[in-house]
Amino acid sequence: MSLTIKNKERSGVINPMYNCQPCGAQFVGIGIKDCIPLVHGGQGCCTFVRLLFAQHFKENFDIASSSLHESAAVLGGVKNVEVGIDTLVKRYPDLKVVPIITTCSTETIGDDVDGVARKARRTLKEQFPDRKVQLVPIHTPSYSGSHVKGYDTGMQALVAALAKKTEPSEKLNVFTGWLNPGDVTEIKYVLSEMGVEGNVLIDTESFDSPTMPDKDTFAYGNTTIEDFMDTANAVGTIALCPYEGGTAAQYLQDEFEVPAVIGPTPIGIENTDKFIQNISKLTGKEVPQSLVEERGKAIDAIADLAHMFFADKKVAIYGDPDLVIGLAQFCLEVELQPVLLLLGDDNKAYAKDPRYKDLEEKANCDIEVVLNADMFELEQRIKDKTIDVDLILGHSKGRYIAIDNQIPMVRVGFPTFDRAGTWKYPVIGYKGASMLAENIANALFADMEYKHNKEYILNVW
Ligand code: SF4
Repeated sequence: MSLTIKNKERSGVINPMYNCQPCGAQFVGIGIKDCIPLVHGGQGCCTFVRLLFAQHFKENFDIASSSLHESAAVLGGVKNVEVGIDTLVKRYPDLKVVPIITTCSTETIGDDVDGVARKARRTLKEQFPDRKVQLVPIHTPSYSGSHVKGYDTGMQALVAALAKKTEPSEKLNVFTGWLNPGDVTEIKYVLSEMGVEGNVLIDTESFDSPTMPDKDTFAYGNTTIEDFMDTANAVGTIALCPYEGGTAAQYLQDEFEVPAVIGPTPIGIENTDKFIQNISKLTGKEVPQSLVEERGKAIDAIADLAHMFFADKKVAIYGDPDLVIGLAQFCLEVELQPVLLLLGDDNKAYAKDPRYKDLEEKANCDIEVVLNADMFELEQRIKDKTIDVDLILGHSKGRYIAIDNQIPMVRVGFPTFDRAGTWKYPVIGYKGASMLAENIANALFADMEYKHNKEYILNVW
């Protein structure tokens, strides 16, 4: 069976599936404790992203804006950044990190954000001698790449600014990439079962924040500045999403000789096996029986579904590249046919991803990968009947394609706002594999019932 990679043939984008670079850097920032990202641009560059986060997580996050207006957009807005830093430091006594995130407008006018940060560091030292606030410029021009590149750039900038070689530690760096809090919980569970202490960057588990008597309605990340500093002393780094954290892992290897394992994203049984083997190799820890049993449970759950319900069902997948490729690998494990993979930005590296070879070798169908794709690409192919799809895997931006064409859809990725609590549950690890299989099965079952399509089988299953 074949795998073909092509660019979208239309110019322009209709219904984009990705967000812009600053969005990715903001996601890294909100996952850090005592950190408020300062977005240097118009207010919308922060408001629109905060809205997406609020929709997805149903929580509020602190993100500041330098609030550029016409005069600053023409004459330069560095003064706004200076005032912004000053306001944040005065207003938040516990603040320790301010990523200063550029946008399309401020990159175009060429504001010297690095220079402002240097100047502001000196001012802060004089004004607040007892405090240490790290200012980290992150350059995210949004006319290239997407939130995927922004996340990667944000991680790289923060690691480069904060990692500090001191004493060697036994800890393992795990760079999560743009995963959900439920995935982070799963990563921490695997590490704890293996008896490994981790520097988990970015730890978003606390985004599942309780409503407490003090009525604080904001959610904050768990990763500390010390976790970042300690990354230079770790026994190794595992970057779970090559395009979202891989550059920072490589930086630690080149700069501090911390061995890096970049990928695969542990979606499905085989990829999770590799993740656990990599932890074992880097730390010397044995794989415990508890994880072997969990693996067995996941295989058991999948075996109950794969051949009977999944075999030969055609799937279209869109979203972040690591998620899409990981999901396609998972589909092949469970006898689904990932016939169409849509990736939504201009990163040329996607075309050369080594995981396509694995997909092609294992494929039970012809697979088409469309780069720089948009949601209209999927809609048009379904409407034109140039593709026949039984299932859609992707985030909520594709919901009307599924609804209008009566195709069952399982929500995965960001943003997912039209299903409750999806971010609490993993897609990675053995737990994620069985949950994913079960969610897919339940979506197909509901579809069988609504369409009276052999729904009677479920009476005797
Ligand atoms: S594309 Fe540019 S203007 Fe629009 S939100 Fe992103 S950074 Fe801001």
